[in-house]
Amino acid sequence: SRKFFVGGNWKMNGDKKFITETIEYLGKANLDKNVEIVIAPPSIYLECVHYLAPRNIQVSAQNCYSVAKGAFTGEISPVMLNDIGIEWVIIGHSERRNVFGETDNLIAEKIGYTVGTGLKVIACVGEKLEEREAGQTEAVVFQQVKAINNKLTESDWSRVVIAYEPVWAIGTGKTATPQQAQEVHEKLREFIKNEISEKVANEIRIIYGGSVTGSNAKDLAKEKDIDGFLVGGASLKPEFVDIINAKL
Ligand code: 13P
Repeated sequence: SRKFFVGGNWKMNGDKKFITETIEYLGKANLDKNVEIVIAPPSIYLECVHYLAPRNIQVSAQNCYSVAKGAFTGEISPVMLNDIGIEWVIIGHSERRNVFGETDNLIAEKIGYTVGTGLKVIACVGEKLEEREAGQTEAVVFQQVKAINNKLTESDWSRVVIAYEPVWAIGTGKTATPQQAQEVHEKLREFIKNEISEKVANEIRIIYGGSVTGSNAKDLAKEKDIDGFLVGGASLKPEFVDIINAKL
């Protein structure tokens, strides 16, 4: 069965004081041992957080490029992440897509390269409000997954977690209902079964992101195709512990 997965995406937030305080309460908290926990600080703090984090918490980058090294000002490479002991990276977050103009194709290329270096990837997909309202939710998320699959082998998928993050739910306080989220997760799993394989469909974690809080996490976690969360705002607060423990 699939191990529940909770990621905290700090986005462009946090400073040294925040890191010290956060690591302290996470270190003291009773965290569900059956949950895989990953926190993603800004790249400048990766090494510091990796050094300080308790052993039950892994550290993830929020982005990387699709090349080992070279003239790509401002980018970081998966090889460098490996070098400092970071095992995870978020790729294709909606803010990368929509604020920085990353395309399905670029994201797929970055995921393909990164998985090839041995890192694990939290691959984000999700529709915008106007796409949902136009009835295009499935078409959009299927296309995003299809683009990624073009760059991966079947076995590569064992190093990928899919984060379904409807753009309209991110940072808005408008969480998808458990039914809305479950519906898309179930359809994604069905699509993966048909497009990739039954094995990948059964094994891949599909996690939900978008205004997850300590109070709505428990109901979302009950849905059979929701295998965890990718948390933004609430990962900066002590309620992140309640989200990690949503299955308890
Ligand atoms: P919020 O939890 O702040 O809505 O952000 C979700 C998200 O984008 C996580 O990657």
